[in-house]
Parts: sequence; structure tokens; C-alpha cells
Amino acid sequence: MLSTMQDVPLTVTRILHHGMTIHAKSQVTTWTGESEPQRRSFAEIGARAAQLAGALRDELGVSGDDRVATLMWNNSEHVEAYFAIPSMGAVLHTLNLRLPPEQLVWIVRHAADRVVLVNGSLLPLLAPLLPHLTTVEHVVVSGPGDRGPLTEAAAGSAVQVHEYEDLIAGRPTTYDWPELDERTAAAMCYTSGTTGEPKGVVYSHRSIYLHSMQINLAESMGLTDKDTTLIVVPQFHVNAWGLPHATFMTGVGMLMPDRFLQPAPLADMIESEKPSHAAAVPTIWQGLLAEVLAKPRDLTSMARVTIGGAACPPALMEAYDKLGVRLCHAWGMTETSPLGTTSNPPAGLTAEEEWPYRITQGRFPVGVEARLTGPDGDTLPWDNESAGELEVRGPWIATSYYGGAGAEPLRPEDKFSEDGWLKTGDVGVISPDGYLTLTDRAKDVIKSGGEWISSVALENALMAHPDIAEAAVVAVPDEKWGERPLATVVLKEGASADYESLKAFLAEKVAKWQLPERWSVVESVPKTSVGKFDKKVIRKQYADGELDVTEV
Ligand code: ADP
Repeated sequence: MLSTMQDVPLTVTRILHHGMTIHAKSQVTTWTGESEPQRRSFAEIGARAAQLAGALRDELGVSGDDRVATLMWNNSEHVEAYFAIPSMGAVLHTLNLRLPPEQLVWIVRHAADRVVLVNGSLLPLLAPLLPHLTTVEHVVVSGPGDRGPLTEAAAGSAVQVHEYEDLIAGRPTTYDWPELDERTAAAMCYTSGTTGEPKGVVYSHRSIYLHSMQINLAESMGLTDKDTTLIVVPQFHVNAWGLPHATFMTGVGMLMPDRFLQPAPLADMIESEKPSHAAAVPTIWQGLLAEVLAKPRDLTSMARVTIGGAACPPALMEAYDKLGVRLCHAWGMTETSPLGTTSNPPAGLTAEEEWPYRITQGRFPVGVEARLTGPDGDTLPWDNESAGELEVRGPWIATSYYGGAGAEPLRPEDKFSEDGWLKTGDVGVISPDGYLTLTDRAKDVIKSGGEWISSVALENALMAHPDIAEAAVVAVPDEKWGERPLATVVLKEGASADYESLKAFLAEKVAKWQLPERWSVVESVPKTSVGKFDKKVIRKQYADGELDVTEV
């Protein structure tokens, strides 16, 4: 028997229409670095999205599932693109502006982007690449920045250059949005390639809609029209964790930092705009902490912060607790849209009892089914002890990667199981009540004499030491044990390295056989394009003899 319910497609267009009408007055505030930020209401954003869609169709000839790329910071024009492009039936492709140039070129060509929307401040990055972007026909520039380099690069080529504001000016503020199949592509994002070549994940209208609803549940981020969220996580990094879509559903104000991502302007914008929520990777919160400890600012408006993308050291949570800001840990990946887990403790606990739950990666929502697979392929129990690779499935989880125009989707065996689950490459345990604790990435785990050592556990313990600003631990080859941990540490200003005492400090927290015997003080930990520890680089530095290593 079929149901008697309407089969209304779940689309980004619907989210746009809802936000611009029901939450017409909610605002996107973009930091400009000047005295006044730029403020636009959701109604204005909606009208400008219609103008942009009209211009893309009528002036630039965008049609069908053409890919329109963005190379932009977090700002209101980027939000306009987020809604205009998928709603007109085209595919939004957000480009990671921190990728090495050759990867950017590869990605643009692989996705066959026809148009690039770019911020003026990023033209020095785009212009030299232009001759290699063979699929690109139009570049549309918005915001401040010298146009010179682009004009020069485009001269004599077939690429047409447009000004965003000129292109949309005077156009109708409504658009006859097409009725779309909810399963079609809305947006695409390539993984940042921390552990290999970038791979294209293509989100559907349906997956974005359902994911946004989950973000808005209280067990996830739980934001309402009384909130403003500071979206530090870039719009090119898994759709800014889905926040621009989720906020349009419930009228949450967006505070966008544009290119002002350094700790000082972030602290200033929090103090003056008083967001109630924020989202960013641990590196950002580490930097902001050092900034406000040196020059105090009031961060207390941010009742809750979502932190994820890499393991959050418990010491960082404690430090922010003292500042009146609660960090809430979440796990996810490009392939999971990204929301996978959020670490809200269960009901009825004291603050002390909540702590062991807060430091986990969190609980799975209804849309994410999880299982742990052991080294021999067995499904492991949820006993908080059996460690295996995390596999997930659900309506906002990838089932393949984009293969390129006309090519079959890619389903590499190490990423997708035969029965259709995503193999995350993350290793961890799950408690009987469904809380995930990740111990490592499969590729980062240290295999010492047949036992596994968690690099994350060592890092978390080290980062609780008062003299240590950051610590990254990697596996290095060892004749006797196969692999052993190498600890690289960044010292706080004025501190000096005393490896014996660091080792004694660690010995209070981890088993003796796990203690690193190789140590190195470094100026900074190498980071990936989205601010995560780049362990590939550290391993290479060690192999090339570039680190000053002391054996203790
Ligand atoms: P990349 O794979 O290129 O780093 P993603 O942003 O998709 O790009 O990264 C997803 C990975 O980031 C996860 O598989 C996991 O290893 C790591 N990660 C994300 N959130 C957390 C978290 N809260 N704790 C530990 N690791 C995390």
C-alpha cells in the first residue's frame, strides 16, 4: 500500500524561499575590517540571489547542470551564490582557496567549471591559474581588490570578466525557479586531500535539506532565530558545515568574517557583534585563546561553540570553560555533509559526570547509522573498548565520488564497503549508549610491536602541559618495534624544553610502553589547507632528517 502523503521535493529552493519570506528580517553580517560591517537581510539576499540566477542564465548562458565555482571567503555574496546556483538547477562548486595551485587547477578541470565567482582579494591567486583553467568561460568578481592581475591574465583569452554588482544591477528580483528532482546535484566539494588526491563529493538537494534539519535539532546545534552564528569554518569546507542552509531554515543570523580570520579581528568581531554560537576547527580556537589571554575580550555571548574537523584537546575545552564559552565537540567529513556526531551529554548528569561525554566525538543522530569493523572484517561490539574502523550510512552520506563528466562514479574499495557503507578511515570505539571516541585516523595510528598507540591520546595529554602550545605525534620507523611515536611540540613563549619532565608528565596519563622516546621542538605544526595537523609533512620532515630530534 502506498502512503496518501504528498511527495514534495526537498530542495535548496524551498529553503531559500522559506528563509527570505518567513525569516525576511534575519541578517547576514559581513566583517569588512572597517568601522561598519555590511548587513543584508535574508529578504535582500533572496532578491539578490534571484538577480544572480537571472544574470547567470541570461548573460552568461548557464543552463542545465553547468558547474559554477566559487573562490570566495565567507560573506553575503557567497551566501547568495549558495542559494542562486543550486536553485536554478546548476551545481555550486566551492573551491578551497588554500589548496596548492596545481590541485586547484586539477579540481576545476575535473569538475568542468564554466564560471568562477571570485572575491577581488583572491585575484592574485586566481589570475596566474587562468590560462590553465581550460573549461572556464566567465569570471565574476565581487568585493574589494585590484582587478589588474585578472584583466591582464584574461587579455587575449576567450575568458570574459564581469563585475558581480554590475551584472546583477537592475535585474528582476524574482526568478522562475524550476521544479527540481530532489535527487539531483546541488553542490559539490572536493575533499582536502589530507590523505591522498582530492575526491569530488556531490550533494543532492535532498541530502542538503535533511542535513540542515538535523543541524537545527537541539541534539546537534539547535539554533533558532534568536541566535547569531559566527561561521568561521570556510564556505569552501563542506558547505561551512551546512550552516548557511540550516540558518535559512530557522532564521539564525550569520556573522561572516570574510578574509579577517586572524585571532585579533575574530576577538573584536565577537566582542562587538556578540554571536551566540560559532563554528570552527581547533586551530582557530587555539589561536583565539592565546589572543584573549594576552589581550582580554569578552567572549561570553558565545554560549556554545561547535568544534570539529580534528580532535579537540580536552585542555582547550577546559580553558574555554573558564572563559564562559562551552566548546561542543562534533565529528564529520566531506563525505558526510559533514554532520556525523555531536557530543551533547545525556540528561540528568552533574557537570563532573558530563565531562567524560563532552570529550568524546559525540552521539550519532537518527540519520547516521554506524558500525565498527575490526581488522579481520568482523563487526565489533559497542563496549567502549573494541577499536575498529568506523563505517557509516545514511541519507546525507556519500555513496561514491564524482568520476568526471560522462564517467562512472568512483567507488574505491577502501572507501565504500560492498554492502554500501562509507569506510571513514577513522579508528575508534563506541560506548553502549552510542558515544563515539576516535583514537586515530587509520593512517596515523602508531603500530608498535603488534599494539596500537593512539597519536591523538598522546597529543591530548601533551597539550594539557602548561609549557606546550601545540603537540603533534606521528609514527616513525623503528628497528625493534616496527613503529614508535615521535612527539613534536611547540613551546609557549618563554618556556624551555625539558624532555625528561615532559615524559614524566605523560607517564601519569598513558601506559609506559606508549611513551615517545623521540622528541623534537618545532616552531609550528604544519597544517593542511583546512587547518588540520599535516602528519604527512611531519613524517617526511623526519625521513628527510629536517627535524632536530633528541632521544630520551
Ligand atoms: P580531509 O579528509 O581532507 O581532512 P575532511 O574535512 O573531510 O577532509 O576531514 C574529515 C576527517 O577529519 C575525519 O575523517 C576525521 O579524521 C577528522 N575529524 C573530523 N572531526 C573530528 C573530530 N571531532 N575529532 C577527530 N577527528 C575529526
